[in-house]
Amino acid sequence: TVKTRFAPSPTGYLHIGGVRTALYSWAFAKHHGGEFLLRIEDTDLERSTQESTEIILHGMDWVGLHADNSGSIVFQSQNFDRYKILIQQLLESGHAYRCYCSKEELAQMREKAEREGTATYDRRWRPENGKTLPEIPSDIEPVIRFKNPIDGVTAWQDSVKGEISIPNAALDDLIIARADGTPTYNFCVVVDDMDMGITHVIRGDDHVNNTPKQINIFKALGATPPVYAHLPMILNEQGKKISKRSGDTVAITEYDEMGILPEAMLNYLARLGWAHGDDEFFTMNQFIEWFDLKDVSASPSRMDGKKLLWINAEHIKAADNQRLANLIENRLQNKGINLSGSLKLADVIALVKDRAQDLNALANECAYFYQKATPDEADVAKHWNDEAAARMQRFAEKLAQLDDWTSENIHALFKPFCDEEGIKMGQLGMPLRLAVCGTAKTPSVDAVLALLGKEEVLRRLRA
Ligand code: GLU
Repeated sequence: TVKTRFAPSPTGYLHIGGVRTALYSWAFAKHHGGEFLLRIEDTDLERSTQESTEIILHGMDWVGLHADNSGSIVFQSQNFDRYKILIQQLLESGHAYRCYCSKEELAQMREKAEREGTATYDRRWRPENGKTLPEIPSDIEPVIRFKNPIDGVTAWQDSVKGEISIPNAALDDLIIARADGTPTYNFCVVVDDMDMGITHVIRGDDHVNNTPKQINIFKALGATPPVYAHLPMILNEQGKKISKRSGDTVAITEYDEMGILPEAMLNYLARLGWAHGDDEFFTMNQFIEWFDLKDVSASPSRMDGKKLLWINAEHIKAADNQRLANLIENRLQNKGINLSGSLKLADVIALVKDRAQDLNALANECAYFYQKATPDEADVAKHWNDEAAARMQRFAEKLAQLDDWTSENIHALFKPFCDEEGIKMGQLGMPLRLAVCGTAKTPSVDAVLALLGKEEVLRRLRA
């Protein structure tokens, strides 16, 4: 079975690039009826935090990318014993060796390598037939290095980037265990990908340089490397690497605060670097059905905030009204709006949802149903004067006489009233909206009045 994984390092927030990587890994596994696993890469004990792990797990939960090992997430920090065993195994099989170089020696090698443009480590301690190794110094704890092949190339067929081939001469004998015995990053990744049975590694292309090293470690451990797929970066709207410092919205929680629906976020990220014909708006089930790594773009994609909002608006329209109500209750309460009356938020949402591109805008559209908004000065100047006020009083009389309070019956009052007053519909509709809602921007006014109810409409009009 296909097994993929998402392997974030818990050193900060959950980045939208990370979410897209997770999304593609998840969709690929689901498309093939396989498993999507989660692994927290917390071997860097200084930079990893519990808080960040929680932020990542919460973010994954929010978008709804559920790992198939959610009850038994792999934490690298719990695998140190396993890494040690395998490092020992590589030493014994001759695939790794101890290196006793001092800091000074390594610094000299680095200078020389830079001058000559070669791999950094000169393989001083690499055992080779007929080679005499230096005398072991007594004052140095050795590191353990991986015996990388010297001749030929390490190549793989990347599912996104095509054939990639690196001459082995360019690869260092990398350190797999530090002097204090702790394993290093590339080694841990390989052990876990092997132990978890990962068949396809889908990750950001900032890891391309690690892949040949990891492939060679796989082989040394007697295992078959997985298939690799490296995803190009996400750029900001200016075409630069997306970053918090450039003011880009990066953390997934910020999109939640902006009022983006999780399914819209995923729909947007799915399309960011992958295409299925002209399809823009789709469900995750469709995405799973359609997703194939061969349709992932090999070049970077650019963020497009307008498009994200457009997709979000489409998902708001499609979403269940009660669910939307639950999602915006807090946002309304934070504005001091009291929702305890008889007017059901889901019914208000049904009327206004077409007008909102995000959940904050949706909350604003709902707010004036519960509490009349403070009118905009420009709107007042344009639509309100003594004449309009007197006219609203006359219209309130007509409304008061209406027994069967429906949108149609309210609508039927408009034309005769306008004819009687010698005005156009806008001269009734706009001041009516302002007087009842406190804003001129509402859906069709008869529907608004019908939903608000006779008593509340008359109360507001008379006030
Ligand atoms: N922990 C790595 C990162 O956060 C991912 C490693 C991988 O996917 O192989 O970038």
